[in-house]
Amino acid sequence: MDNQHERSTSEDFGKREYSASYAFSQMADACIACAGCTASCPVTNADGEYVGPKLIGPAQHRFAFAEEDLEKTLKYCTNCKTCDRTCSAGVKVSTINMLTRGKYYDSHPHKVRDMMLSNHSLASHVFRSIPFGSKIANFTLKIARYCGILNMLGVTRNRKLPSYSADSFVDMLLDLDQTPKNKKVVLFQGCFIEHNAPKVGMAFVKVMEANGYEVLRDEKFVCCGSPLVSAGYIEKAWENSVINAKRILYWQRKKIPVVACCTSCSLMLKEEAGELFDDELLFQAGTNVYDAFEFLKKLKQNGELVSPSKKSEETLLYHVPCHLLSQGIGTPAKEILENEGGSKVKVLNTGCCGMAGSYGFQSETAKISLKIGEDLFNRINEEPEASVISDCATCRMQIEYGAKRKTLHPIEILADLYEKKEENPST
Ligand code: SF4
Ligand code: SF4
Repeated sequence: MDNQHERSTSEDFGKREYSASYAFSQMADACIACAGCTASCPVTNADGEYVGPKLIGPAQHRFAFAEEDLEKTLKYCTNCKTCDRTCSAGVKVSTINMLTRGKYYDSHPHKVRDMMLSNHSLASHVFRSIPFGSKIANFTLKIARYCGILNMLGVTRNRKLPSYSADSFVDMLLDLDQTPKNKKVVLFQGCFIEHNAPKVGMAFVKVMEANGYEVLRDEKFVCCGSPLVSAGYIEKAWENSVINAKRILYWQRKKIPVVACCTSCSLMLKEEAGELFDDELLFQAGTNVYDAFEFLKKLKQNGELVSPSKKSEETLLYHVPCHLLSQGIGTPAKEILENEGGSKVKVLNTGCCGMAGSYGFQSETAKISLKIGEDLFNRINEEPEASVISDCATCRMQIEYGAKRKTLHPIEILADLYEKKEENPST
């Protein structure tokens, strides 16, 4: 991408001030106005009020700096990136949208609700620092919902915010007391695994242990920035991206890969941050990041993957998250679970689930969110006996709410097969 600004060197990385104009550059000018993106946009298809990616992205951008108010219906964009994947001209419409949203919030205040939903890690660290913090947090959320306080703040009354787990992932990992090994990976656990679903991170640890790896943690990692970008906190997302990239580059120098078990985290670390901030060092850091099953597939290709001794005959309905599709790595979880685990994996080609992080929790977008997910929910409920899997935490939340079906991360299915092997070492 051409840019009138100089890219970072290793010396000045993170020292320059963030400016939205870094990444706007000539992206919009590549648009040939074919409207293919608008035809594919799940929000345009679910809600007539949204003017769609062509108008909200490249077209609005051409006039953005001449207008006082940039927002219009941009608030309805979910950052699902379907438009980017559709565009034959290579326009990163979602990047334009998110930077425009950030520009809007440079001069407009955020709602308390937005601060709350997009700064999950900050609130979690506060609760974790006090005795019985997770219980207090869960109780507070329950009361706030029951009394209508959350609703007054703009959180839909119908949905329950995810509860905090009693132990954080890091606490559980420390308790595990792993044997040091020569082969190591760093898990970028992300906010949700750290505070709400440590079992997903522990499933990854089990799989890696069975493959002869030690899983390291890095306390200096911060939120990947995905929820911050969606809520318009672009400057904060830039700061987080720099902190994370410096750590990833540190691990890269040690030849230790960084792996994430959330497709929004892995996309942000691999390429979304680089695209947003047009920074070569962010892209370079991204080359040392893998999504969990992408890494397992690499092991398999190198002949290093240890097959689980147990096989499963389960049918798995697989909702592929939009942010995995955007990585362009196919569906490695399907390949591993079928070839190594024996499962029958049916990929559900029903598009975006509509959850998009906090989008499904916001009063003004909750209905659209469910409308987007309708095809997915109906498809899942055609097969009531099958198990449901998805690699993204918020997709899993949406399916559990919209289709009323328990949904697991595919790594939990795989870990279970290795776990069975450990239970019976003679096999
Ligand atoms: S952004 Fe791409 S898909 Fe959308 S109208 Fe422009 S060229 Fe077509
Ligand atoms: S990112 Fe998704 S919701 Fe936003 S304009 Fe593109 S396709 Fe539509």
